[in-house]
Amino acid sequence: MNVLQVKDLTVAYGQVTAVDRISFHVPAGSVVTLIGANGAGKTTLLKALMGALPAKEGTVELDGIVLGQIPVEERVRRGMYLVPEKRSLFASMKVEDNLRLGAYARRKDLKLDRELERIFQLFPVLKERREQLAGTLSGGEQQMVAIGRALIAHPRVLLLDEPSIGLAPRIVQQIMEVIVELKRSEGLTVILVEQNVRMALRAADEAYLVELGRVVKRGPAAELAADPGLVSSYLGKAA
Ligand code: ATP
Repeated sequence: MNVLQVKDLTVAYGQVTAVDRISFHVPAGSVVTLIGANGAGKTTLLKALMGALPAKEGTVELDGIVLGQIPVEERVRRGMYLVPEKRSLFASMKVEDNLRLGAYARRKDLKLDRELERIFQLFPVLKERREQLAGTLSGGEQQMVAIGRALIAHPRVLLLDEPSIGLAPRIVQQIMEVIVELKRSEGLTVILVEQNVRMALRAADEAYLVELGRVVKRGPAAELAADPGLVSSYLGKAA
C-alpha cells in the first residue's frame, strides 16, 4: 500500500522548470531516496510535496487522496513533516524547548515528557545537552534536534532534505541508524533526499536518480548501488 503517490509532478520558478514530470510512489513503512547532484530539483520537489510550492502540473496523493491546494499545516496534520536542509532551529532557545515546539503546533494530546524521553533514547547526546542553547551545538547535534523535533509528534511520512550535509561520517551513520530503526519499530515512512549517494543507498529500500528535474533511473537501492555507471558518476563522496 502506497502512502504517497506522485504523478507527473512539475514545478517551475517562472520560466525555469525545476521539477519536470516526476513520478514515484512510496510504500508505507519504506525508505525511498531521491538522489542526484546539486540543482537537480530535489529540494524543490520536497517543498512541493509539503505544499510550500505550488505544482504547475501533476498530482500528489497522500493515502489515496489528492492533496491539490491543501496547505502545509493541513499536510502536517495529516502526518507529513519536512526537516529542511537548513534545520531552522531556534538558536537562542534551549534544546529541550526546540524539541517541545515540534509537538506544540501539531498535537495537543501528547504526553510531552514521555515523548521527550523517547527522543532522548533515540539521540542520547541530546539528553546531556537539553539545557544548552541550540545555537551552541555542533552541526551533527543540531541535525539531531531538527530530526527529534520532527519525530516528537509521530509523523507518518518524514521528509528529510540532505541530513548528511556538512556532518562527519560517524554522525551521518548514527542518524541513518535511527531512521532505519524507526522504520522497523514504528513503521515510519521516509523520503530521503541526498547528494551523499553512498549513504542514501545504504539506508533506502527504493531509489530514484534525479537529473535536471527528471527521474533518469530508479530501482531497488541495492541494485542502484551495484550499478557500475552510477557508481563512477555519483559515488565519489565517501560516507
Ligand atoms: P541542492 O542540493 O543544491 O539544494 P537540489 O537538487 O535540491 O539542489 P533545487 O534547489 O530544487 O535543487 O533547485 C533546482 C533548480 O531550481 C536549480 O536550477 C535552481 O537554480 C532552481 N531554483 C531553486 N530555487 C529557486 C528559486 N527560489 N528561484 C528560482 N530558481 C530556483
